[in-house]
Amino acid sequence: VRVVVDWDLCESNGLCMAEAPEVFLLKDDDELDILDETPDESLRTKVEAAVRACPRQAITIA
Ligand code: SF4
Repeated sequence: VRVVVDWDLCESNGLCMAEAPEVFLLKDDDELDILDETPDESLRTKVEAAVRACPRQAITIA
């Protein structure tokens, strides 16, 4: 899975991290970090949940 975040849209609310903490980390300074831009296929379901959870539609996957 390839994960891309549109940083212009992201508002750092951490909802994606709640769904896929293996991939998304909201840091102490409230900046979102992508821990793994190409997570294993086994994480696809979680990453898809993160895409749906994002209120800004900032996450796209391929
Ligand atoms: S859910 Fe969307 S807006 Fe919120 S931190 Fe994740 S990418 Fe950013």
